[in-house]
Amino acid sequence: MRKYNTKAYECFLNNIKSVPCAHCGSAFDRRNPNQRFCSDKCRFINKVKPLPNGCWLWTAATNNKGYGTFKYCGGNDKKAHRVSYEMFVSPIPDGAMVMHICDNPSCVNPDHLRPGRHADNVDDMVRKGRQAVGARHARWNPQSPHHKHNPSSPFYVGPAKT
Ligand SMILES: [Zn+2]
Ligand SMILES: [Zn+2]
Repeated sequence: MRKYNTKAYECFLNNIKSVPCAHCGSAFDRRNPNQRFCSDKCRFINKVKPLPNGCWLWTAATNNKGYGTFKYCGGNDKKAHRVSYEMFVSPIPDGAMVMHICDNPSCVNPDHLRPGRHADNVDDMVRKGRQAVGARHARWNPQSPHHKHNPSSPFYVGPAKT
């Protein structure tokens, strides 16, 4: 049977203390000495610097694509703009993307974020010329008898005919 660790528990109790939040100043019960903010929202906003153009610049860690990252819900790194959308706007549906209308990946202003499907984002990238349009696909002729995607072609390699 596991022994109860009294010392650790006493330490835990001593650390529970009512302290002012480092962002909004309201008192909250801190559960460990490193806790400085009353909520994830305050912890998040404290890392944001508003810019004159309206963008909220993320001043904490970013990933290699320039997106801010934020430890949230179980300590995992999440993309900061997605966290912002979930905190201030609404939950993000499964599989949905959150895109920037300001084109600034390090911006986390919920007013500059729009949800979208993956295809929207691809259209957007194509429109902005970030990705070459697939020339091979553009030339694909489904009527061609030699095409491997045409079920009536002898070269067909797709799923079995039903
Ligand atoms: Zn606060
Ligand atoms: Zn912005």
